[in-house]
Amino acid sequence: MSAPHAVISGASIAGPSAAWWLRHTGWQVTVVERAPAFRDGGQNVDVRGVAKQVLERMGLTEAVRAANTTEIGTVLVDTDGRVTATLPEGPDGATAELEVLRGDLARTVLDALPDGVTLVFGERITDVDDTVPDRVTVTTDRGRVLRADLLVVAEGVRSTTRALVFDHPGDVDERDLGVTMAFGTIPRTDSDDRRWRWYNAVGGRQVHLRPDPYDTTRAILAWAGDDDGATGADRERVQERLEERFADAGWEARRVLDGFATSDDVYVDRLTQVRMPVWRRGRVAVVGDAAWCVTPMGGGGASLALTSGYVLAASVAGRSSDRDELDRALAAFDDWMRPLVDDVQGIPRGIVRFAYPRTRFGLALRHVADKVLLEGPLQGLAARATRVAETDRELPRVPAA
Ligand SMILES: Cc1cc2nc3c(=O)[nH]c(=O)nc-3n(C[C@H](O)[C@H](O)[C@H](O)COP(=O)(O)OP(=O)(O)OC[C@H]3O[C@@H](n4cnc5c(N)ncnc54)[C@H](O)[C@@H]3O)c2cc1C
Repeated sequence: MSAPHAVISGASIAGPSAAWWLRHTGWQVTVVERAPAFRDGGQNVDVRGVAKQVLERMGLTEAVRAANTTEIGTVLVDTDGRVTATLPEGPDGATAELEVLRGDLARTVLDALPDGVTLVFGERITDVDDTVPDRVTVTTDRGRVLRADLLVVAEGVRSTTRALVFDHPGDVDERDLGVTMAFGTIPRTDSDDRRWRWYNAVGGRQVHLRPDPYDTTRAILAWAGDDDGATGADRERVQERLEERFADAGWEARRVLDGFATSDDVYVDRLTQVRMPVWRRGRVAVVGDAAWCVTPMGGGGASLALTSGYVLAASVAGRSSDRDELDRALAAFDDWMRPLVDDVQGIPRGIVRFAYPRTRFGLALRHVADKVLLEGPLQGLAARATRVAETDRELPRVPAA
């Protein structure tokens, strides 16, 4: 009997993790990525909770540690850069033990893929035919036709293949959280230290500066409310909108705006939570942000993406790729992952207002709340908020091929 074949769409974190684990259980794997080459870069993410075990089982913990962003802690600062509060510390604190750029984590897994995984860059799936019981057939925009036993959609929050398959009302609930973020890399200056510095300004605005391992600084300008038409706009318009929003924000906002003006990786996105009642249909499974984007407001997206590849492989390993059997396997995947996802998706009501105060009074209240939460009797509550992707359950077993 020939090895079953999986087509995986998306080569960031969830896709390569699924490829790594499926290949290790004996599947043939083809990964299709729409970008013309591997996408480096991205923001600071971390590996937490059960994902640390998955990484350890891949033998990649030290490689990720070596690529760490060098961040040593997280502080809130005022307009003069003075520290007003320190966020929870320790291996599971706001700055985790394993902090890494999204691109560096993805590359670490991709570089470690075993033989037998075919990578196709610069193509995206335009058609999925799942009407024949014994296979799913996908066609890409370049006319490539791939027949597979399983299609894994790992395309992130704006997945288009997900939309081709999960096209009934209620299949996919995309919730706009009302927050827009502009990301970019700017020159590092002597005033940057090795901490994540987080500044809140009135008008529901935030400025973040974080170290990376390349002697540059990762910056975020975030705001609550209307996106000002910045999402999807061209560079010039984005810069204009950011100038209008942040010119008077204070602290290092001016420096970030100047840095963004010449940075080549600025992009803007609207925080969108994805909820799906089931992550499978026929021979198609959805994993990572495409299935459950938790957004940075929930946290742990990279850890869930990494873990999902492992759990998917564990669920299908050793079973026949008969359609009913595959459905049972994908149901087991759903059962295992869902509590982890539910745990971070339940963002408390009012959290956006709390995190992005609009008025001076709101900001003052926020400073008081920070003191109570971070230095007072509720410290434990704040520390718990940074603990994501945690479970008492054993990871399911992945048999080697
Ligand atoms: C500012 C910020 C901070 C974050 N911080 C953290 C953190 O501290 N900890 C944490 O765990 N997570 C964090 N995350 C979340 C984390 O980055 C994501 O959860 C994670 O990258 C999801 O991985 P993924 O592989 O599912 O999707 P993505 O990383 O979104 O990758 C999707 C891939 O699919 C490709 N693709 C898209 N469409 C198609 C298509 N049609 N065909 C083929 N390929 C396609 C894309 O090019 C991309 O390579 C953060 C995110 C942001 C934005």
